[in-house]
Amino acid sequence: MARAFSKKAAQPINATPVQYTEDSFATRSYLPAIASGLATSMSHFFENARELIKGNRPDPIMEPLADGVTTVAYPEQKRPYPERFRGVHRLTQREDGSPRCVACLCCSTACPAQCILIDAGEYPEGDKRRGYERYPVRFVIDELRCIFCGYCVEACPCDAIRMDTGAHAAPYDSREQFIYDKEMMLSFASRDGQHVTENPRHEPGDAGHPGLSRDEH
Ligand code: SF4
Ligand code: SF4
Repeated sequence: MARAFSKKAAQPINATPVQYTEDSFATRSYLPAIASGLATSMSHFFENARELIKGNRPDPIMEPLADGVTTVAYPEQKRPYPERFRGVHRLTQREDGSPRCVACLCCSTACPAQCILIDAGEYPEGDKRRGYERYPVRFVIDELRCIFCGYCVEACPCDAIRMDTGAHAAPYDSREQFIYDKEMMLSFASRDGQHVTENPRHEPGDAGHPGLSRDEH
């Protein structure tokens, strides 16, 4: 049977052989490496102890605890979270307590974990918001699938979803309890207890509403 390709000629070996060296018994026993690791750990221990005794242990993260130790007795004590810590989601409210969300689906589209489910609804005939925006009939986030990337917050054009609660998901014992619904997320407040946001919002029909006018278009 004819060969589709000619056989490739053998290439001359052009390499320098590496000499295999036998490790010593000490190396194979890991004892020098263990001793070296212990020496490093103990040097840190004694240095920290010396700084602690002198009263100038530099640990700005732990300073609010002000008890002079680096061990946190969680959950009685907690490390202060950074200002931009992403906690569980909250849905921000309008002045009347309704969600700012207009069910545009930007957040669920941006979500890489696909853990946001929104059912969008139309406002009824005669409502000034009908035709301008929709509202979330159902807004659900599976906090177990969420990777807390914050993309949903960045994608939202209405400042309607935030992760500034400063809280992480409670240790529930069933999967269903990690499914946060609209009412639950609307009830969460920011770290400073706010349900609204500072960003201005213009309702359809207001004089300052920047959207298109139905009368002119
Ligand atoms: S934080 Fe990220 S993964 Fe979680 S809901 Fe928002 S976009 Fe999805
Ligand atoms: S939370 Fe924001 S991005 Fe998500 S549907 Fe509502 S308005 Fe759109």
